[in-house]
Amino acid sequence: MNDKLIIVSTRLPVSVSRVDGKLRFDSSAGGLATAIHSLKKSKDSVWVGWPGIASDDLTRSEKQQITTELQKRGCYPVFLTSDQVDAFYSGYSNSTLWPLFHYFPREATFVDDYWRAYQEVNALFTKTVLKFATRDSKIWVHDYQLMLVPRMIRTAQKDALIGFFLHTPFPSFEIFRLIPEREMLLEGLLGADMIGFHTYDYVHYFLTSIVKVLGHENSLGTIRIGDRLVHTDAFPIGIDYKKFENESKNRKVHAILKSFNVLRVKTKIILSVDRADYTKGIPARLDAFEQFLERYPQYVKKAVLLIIAVPSRGDVDAYRDLRATIEQKVSRINGRFATIDWSPITYRYQPVPFEELSALYRLADVMLVTPLRDGMNLVAKEYVASRSNHDGALVLSDMAGAAIELTDALLVNPNNTTQVADAIHDGLSMTRSEQHKRMKKMQARVAEYTIEKWAQDFITELKATKTRKNKTIKSLTEDQENELIQKYDNAEKRLILLDYDGTLKEFSSSPRSRRSEPTNKLRKMLKVLTQDKRNKVVIISGRKKNTLSSYFKDHNLGLIAEHGGWMFDLGRWISHSKNTPDWKNSIRPILKTFVARTPGSEFEEKDFSFVWHYRLVQPNLAYVRKEALKTKLKSALHSDEIGIFEGQKIIEVKPKRMNKGAAANKLARETKWDFILAIGDDYTDEDMFLALPHNAYTINVGMQDTNARFQLSNVDEVLRLLHAL
Ligand code: UDP
Repeated sequence: MNDKLIIVSTRLPVSVSRVDGKLRFDSSAGGLATAIHSLKKSKDSVWVGWPGIASDDLTRSEKQQITTELQKRGCYPVFLTSDQVDAFYSGYSNSTLWPLFHYFPREATFVDDYWRAYQEVNALFTKTVLKFATRDSKIWVHDYQLMLVPRMIRTAQKDALIGFFLHTPFPSFEIFRLIPEREMLLEGLLGADMIGFHTYDYVHYFLTSIVKVLGHENSLGTIRIGDRLVHTDAFPIGIDYKKFENESKNRKVHAILKSFNVLRVKTKIILSVDRADYTKGIPARLDAFEQFLERYPQYVKKAVLLIIAVPSRGDVDAYRDLRATIEQKVSRINGRFATIDWSPITYRYQPVPFEELSALYRLADVMLVTPLRDGMNLVAKEYVASRSNHDGALVLSDMAGAAIELTDALLVNPNNTTQVADAIHDGLSMTRSEQHKRMKKMQARVAEYTIEKWAQDFITELKATKTRKNKTIKSLTEDQENELIQKYDNAEKRLILLDYDGTLKEFSSSPRSRRSEPTNKLRKMLKVLTQDKRNKVVIISGRKKNTLSSYFKDHNLGLIAEHGGWMFDLGRWISHSKNTPDWKNSIRPILKTFVARTPGSEFEEKDFSFVWHYRLVQPNLAYVRKEALKTKLKSALHSDEIGIFEGQKIIEVKPKRMNKGAAANKLARETKWDFILAIGDDYTDEDMFLALPHNAYTINVGMQDTNARFQLSNVDEVLRLLHAL
């Protein structure tokens, strides 16, 4: 694989604006840009995104100028009109998804036009990506604004290698389910091979939504979608540690620090830096500071709070209201505590240049980071990296992703005003040695997993999904298939064991559905196979004997029903056991209750077993009921001989001894076969694969872990193979 990388994010690391009528290009010094720079080893790597200027203001030649200039910097623009920016960016992204992903459902607005624009813009991004994507490129899509892009790319390029990283929290299911377009968003993400989050909690919430909304289960974070695997994992984003650490050598920073020192001699400095966003909890933080002054009056005139609020998303109502709230609170608290020569809060509503930010980090005795919700929070990590003397105290909200890593901070619940007030006090009164101990531990963590490591780690894991896929999936290759056909041709005695549902026939909504019946094409194919005197073809199924008889009555086929409970031999059915088992009487009422309480489910009673089908149950409910049913059944079954098994959208209760393995074994020993082929898709077929001799051709249908030697993706491929025979 070459190193061609396509980065896709809403904003490019270069921002275009118009100053005095002329286009101006500003490069962002953001951490992501640095990290990506270290990854872009190949010349033809490219960063696709919006350059930050609406296209309605641009002439055709200006667009060309922008494209040319951006290409020189490794970027390629997606042009958006101001209407698109309003509805896609300020609208769906920042007024629907952002508030919900941060647990602010009351701030969320649901507007059809926003959703339309979101789809349209995601399609535009995809189109641009496809200009560059070749078979071996790695595509890395970023953040909540572009959740539909992975699937859109996948549809156009089946084999693309696609990663997605979410920079915000992924909310718990009870919040995620509020989104009108929840299915489409999740399906969009599942187009990726690897989906990354900041923390395991977010991974867990995502996987829960996947099973509850779409019904896809996962195995250790890996979801199987048809013939693809989608991996999920946590990659906590880091910072450019060296940049903050080295800043101490910068003369400009020293000069700024010196100018602040007057302030420092007299007072302790508490610092707060964030984008002015309602998720950051700035009003609650001001309340906590007020309470701190009330509870610890010894700090009046001895401590000040510096609040830097960086203007953000001024075109969204909630943000305008927030600014007013903050300013009212600052005035009130200052009014209450200020003296002629002292004021407790210094407030700035503007961005600060990097040198000044770095000086402030070095100045602050206590860094107050108390977001109500934050995907990660880099400010906390930047403060830690800037403390080259290892002193200072970090008060950190446990609602920030960073709290998972920075466990040596003073962790607080930002909604608990008293706790935050006390934590400010604890930070200010902490001994030097305690500060050192905590700070060094946090520094070790932040210095270790930097933004570059994070990006490399993600890309390494993304590439590994390709190799893992090849390792775990044992696709029947063309050569292997040719060999199989040749062995078949040369054999005189052939045994062919075929499962029915999911192998010869796609699953239908209910086992009783007419759509489960074999098609004429399938019947014909089986007839041709059975007409060959060298073949013994056996349908080996979990179905009832009467169903199999009715499906295949005119065929010269061997039939095994109920996973071996019944065998059709020499024109009659022979049973596994003569008696109707007693245990069924205690299980039947449980299943009846579950069917009554679970709309869409049904239960099937066979001679030796029960099956609870939940294919048509809402995934959300199915998830809960399935677990409850298993627990209930376990406590009701008093015999070790009866097992509870989970299959394709079913729970089955049956004697453990009665399985396809025993039946297959019996058939395999009947005579000396030259060729054995067994195909099946479900857990019951695994017994069959294990029971057959090593040289048998065992084939699993699907992509799950299997004991079979080979795999085919779906029913169509099975029919194609049988046709070839
Ligand atoms: N920051 C900035 N300008 C400022 C103040 C801060 O660019 O005037 C940076 C800060 O250094 C940090 C980022 O903004 O890297 C904020 O990231 P964080 O994860 O804390 O919050 P976000 O804004 O992404 O929600």
